Amino acid sequence: MRLVTLKPREENEKRIALTPASVKKLSSLGFRIMIPENLGADLGFSNQDYQSAGATLFQDINLEPEDILITVKAEPWHVAALPLGGTLVGLLEPFQNPELIGTMKQKDINSFCMELIPRTTYAQKMDALSSQASLAGYVAVVKAADTIGKVFPMMSTPAGTIPPAKVFVLGVGVAGLQAIATAKRLGARVEAYDTRPVVAEQVQSLGAKFVNIDVGETGQTDQGYAKALTEEQLELQRQQLAKICAGSDVVITTAQVFGRSAPRLLTKEMVQGMRAGSVVVDLAASTGGNVEGTVVDQVVNINGVSIIGLSNFPAQVAKDASLMYASNVANLLEHLWDKEQKNLKINLEDEITKSVLLTFQGQIRDERVKAQVEK
Ligand code: NAD
Repeated sequence: MRLVTLKPREENEKRIALTPASVKKLSSLGFRIMIPENLGADLGFSNQDYQSAGATLFQDINLEPEDILITVKAEPWHVAALPLGGTLVGLLEPFQNPELIGTMKQKDINSFCMELIPRTTYAQKMDALSSQASLAGYVAVVKAADTIGKVFPMMSTPAGTIPPAKVFVLGVGVAGLQAIATAKRLGARVEAYDTRPVVAEQVQSLGAKFVNIDVGETGQTDQGYAKALTEEQLELQRQQLAKICAGSDVVITTAQVFGRSAPRLLTKEMVQGMRAGSVVVDLAASTGGNVEGTVVDQVVNINGVSIIGLSNFPAQVAKDASLMYASNVANLLEHLWDKEQKNLKINLEDEITKSVLLTFQGQIRDERVKAQVEK
């Protein structure tokens, strides 16, 4: 069975879906791996590295129905390149990309959606949302440190003492925790807030302060995702957050609600209330933005406060992001691989398979995604 990847064409997508390490693992399972020439050249993976790991290089390829196409973000031309009944594994952005999912359904494509890997201990090694979010949290802090005209650690020098930068992290999932850890390593004083009070202990264990804001009842789903707040709760939250933002040098927002647009946490007035020279990094920029005024892939200046919102934070550290993503995909394929039949086994009783299989036999299997596509 051939496993094929194609070079991403989207401008900001520097990540790739197969690395020499993942090729080695997958070819030892029995896959025939087909790689476009110079796929990893920009990341330091040569054609020779891929060939030594067991891949065959190509300049052009016609995909066959039995092939499996692996992508990072699935792009429309990937779906167009697949024949009827083909198979796709990738980040399919199921809640942002209804047209693409609709096309896959029409083309009878069997798609494995990396965003739908369940949040279980066993599936952690396949969890691409976590691996990429963790890198995004790191990148957010590095971007802020690079933009702000101030150092993060306290510095006592004969010329005077510089106080540490105050960093406020809003949303403490995987990205937020990594942002806290990175800012602490750089010596900042860090505060953090999340609607899920269960994260307070994790925040404290990283040496940061958890900020309590009472907005009434909050909660989380059985997968650990936050439940959406009401508009009244969000307003109450904004009033209290405004004070903390005003006293912070850097605000990093990472709040997401699975399957919905990101909640709006910072209004323009709140940004205007911050000191000139401060920096806001909006990690939710590509899903609607936590910050009013974020413009994707631009640095916006509001009264001297810079707002940074990239469409693709993990792609800023594309080599490590690719290594982690490729490993997530290889672990999923290993889980799905039938060694005797040398084929993917589709066992709809299996928790991972039933979660991750998005389109199958001409149907959209996830009810939430199906409802959006039909709408
Ligand atoms: P996410 O990207 O969905 O959201 C980021 C954070 O934003 C979350 O912590 C969420 O509570 C918070 N948030 C949402 N609305 C908010 C608001 N109005 N104000 C402030 N914060 C808000 O989260 P994630 O990183 O995908 O993690 C979700 C959960 O899954 C976490 O509990 C995490 O620990 C858990 N998780 C478990 C596993 C596993 O067990 N295998 C793996 C990864 C994550």
